[in-house]
Amino acid sequence: MRFQTRAIHGAKSADEQAKALTFPIYQTSTFGQQEAGSPTVFDGRDLSYARSENPTRTQLENALAVLEDAKYGLAFASGLAAVATVLNTLKSGDHVIACQDLYGGTYRMLTKVFQKFGIEVSFADTTDLANLEKALKPNTKIVWLESPSNPLIKITDLEAAAKLAKRRNALVVVDNTFATPVLQQPLKLGADIVLHSTTKYINGHGDVIAGALLTNHKALWDQLKFIQNATGVIPGPQDCFLVLRGLKTLGIRMDRHCANARKISWHLAKHPKVAKVFYPGLSTHPGHELARKQMKDFGAMLSFELKADVETSKEFAGALKIFTLAESLGAVKSLICHPPTMTHASVEPDVRRQNGIADGLIRISVGLEDVEDLIEDLEQALAKVPVPAGVA
Ligand SMILES: *Cc1c(COP(=O)(O)O)cnc(C)c1O
Repeated sequence: MRFQTRAIHGAKSADEQAKALTFPIYQTSTFGQQEAGSPTVFDGRDLSYARSENPTRTQLENALAVLEDAKYGLAFASGLAAVATVLNTLKSGDHVIACQDLYGGTYRMLTKVFQKFGIEVSFADTTDLANLEKALKPNTKIVWLESPSNPLIKITDLEAAAKLAKRRNALVVVDNTFATPVLQQPLKLGADIVLHSTTKYINGHGDVIAGALLTNHKALWDQLKFIQNATGVIPGPQDCFLVLRGLKTLGIRMDRHCANARKISWHLAKHPKVAKVFYPGLSTHPGHELARKQMKDFGAMLSFELKADVETSKEFAGALKIFTLAESLGAVKSLICHPPTMTHASVEPDVRRQNGIADGLIRISVGLEDVEDLIEDLEQALAKVPVPAGVA
């Protein structure tokens, strides 16, 4: 079956009795047992207590696994709960290498939460694999990658990076939130674990916080599942239902997201008040060829620098009428943000600038509105930006 058919039909409905078209929400905390110590078995899972197993969550975990062509899935209360679960497999003295252009919350968790338990962390610009090779150490247990990355939309060669990490027996984790399984399936490129903030494209409607992990390794799944239950980082059944509903249209939404983003990137790239556009669909993007090889399309996240200072950039972001000034991404509504004061405010200013995140950087998540309206909205806000010196 092809992607969009699998998204709709992939996880079989276990609700054989009622034949409900949509899988029900099992809003319960526990399940009655036949006799002490023999829980009810439902869809191959022992139902004893709803932190350990809930049929709505199982249905979501199976559906997510189908999307990534993975054997095993796990659902979480947030993307960061999924991040914490992966990091909880480590012990003091282990080393993690993360890509430099990393989601701000993952950066914060590594440096402010796990480092104090003796986990060593280093960052490498993985768009050049020589940097990754240099950073690998005998105690490196995890290589953490994002491609396209956030907020500079950099592309890392996932297959080559995974090969390098595997030679040193490090686990490869790919945060695939930006690309979604429609555009890229990292397990096929050698990743051990794929992570999603399903808050974003997979749910797609901006009404849920949730996360996921996918893997093909049974032992790894068992370990992650143990931690999921032991630390209690589970999503509630209503949130599982919403993500299940959202993911059925993922393929269709991504087509439109990408088409809209492509047109906006062309428009911004030729605008005299725009200094730089970061979008892998543009042939001027350093990762363009790699993205063509590794992805089916270029996604709907793009960043750009205005020929303007911080204050003007902030004013520009606030002057849009259709784009909502907000953190997050991947929803039907287009969003705009100023990473230095919003999503990446938890990264120290000097680290941020060193990583190429200029003070005037603007990031947009292109939604599903009519693209002409989005372009007109950007135009009216750009018109308010003073003409930079040297532009006729
Ligand atoms: C949003 C996001 C996360 C964190 O997910 P939450 O659901 O907000 O906890 C992790 N990685 C990326 C790339 C994200 O965009």
